[in-house]
Amino acid sequence: MNAANILIVEDEPGLILTLQDRFENEGYNVDVADDGEKGFQKASFGGYDVIILDLMLPKKSGLDVCRDLRAKDVFTPILMLTAKGQVIDKVLGLKMGADDYLAKPFEFMELLARIEALIRRNKRVKPAKKSDSTFSFSDVEVFISKGEVHKSGDAVTLSAKEFHLLHFMLQHQGELLTRERLLDEVWGYDSTPTTRTVDVHVAWLRQKLEDDHRHPKHIMTVHGMGYKFVL
Ligand code: CA
Repeated sequence: MNAANILIVEDEPGLILTLQDRFENEGYNVDVADDGEKGFQKASFGGYDVIILDLMLPKKSGLDVCRDLRAKDVFTPILMLTAKGQVIDKVLGLKMGADDYLAKPFEFMELLARIEALIRRNKRVKPAKKSDSTFSFSDVEVFISKGEVHKSGDAVTLSAKEFHLLHFMLQHQGELLTRERLLDEVWGYDSTPTTRTVDVHVAWLRQKLEDDHRHPKHIMTVHGMGYKFVL
């Protein structure tokens, strides 16, 4: 079993279904994004072994996705798909950080072979797991494995719960997180805090990380429901 994680960023429903089906049959875990923005967000959070990225996408082109990921130090291998007859500037694409190309239409076995090669190559040259354990927003950097948070380059002291809460929010960026879910996921059942506990910890995180804690730009309140982390 491969059990590698693939992110497919593609907007053709038929192709998505086919690729998802075939890769799952090969034992891969497949995640899909159907436009460039979603693809960028998912890819930013790491955890993928390889990304299949269509060049022409709604909202954000494959080239832009690629360039912005590399600019954020996300070095997941990327195979770019190009449409038949599309004049692609291969040099430009490689400059943007793609690792390989394949023109549509293609044989699945060809794609599979290249994906396997990219994953193998990446495993060989993975000295430090930097990218998949680092998050950044505004001037804040979060180093998950080290348990460190920096703001404007200065270390910020967070309690374990604050750090855990922040990490959970970063992993579920853009999702509505109810107080109940946060209690469940971050506090667990080893204590009996109230939803007020969540509010207090969120307030502390805002004070430590937001430029203006009364007008947060990342740790947002969803009125009457909970919170949402946005980049
Ligand atoms: Ca497309």
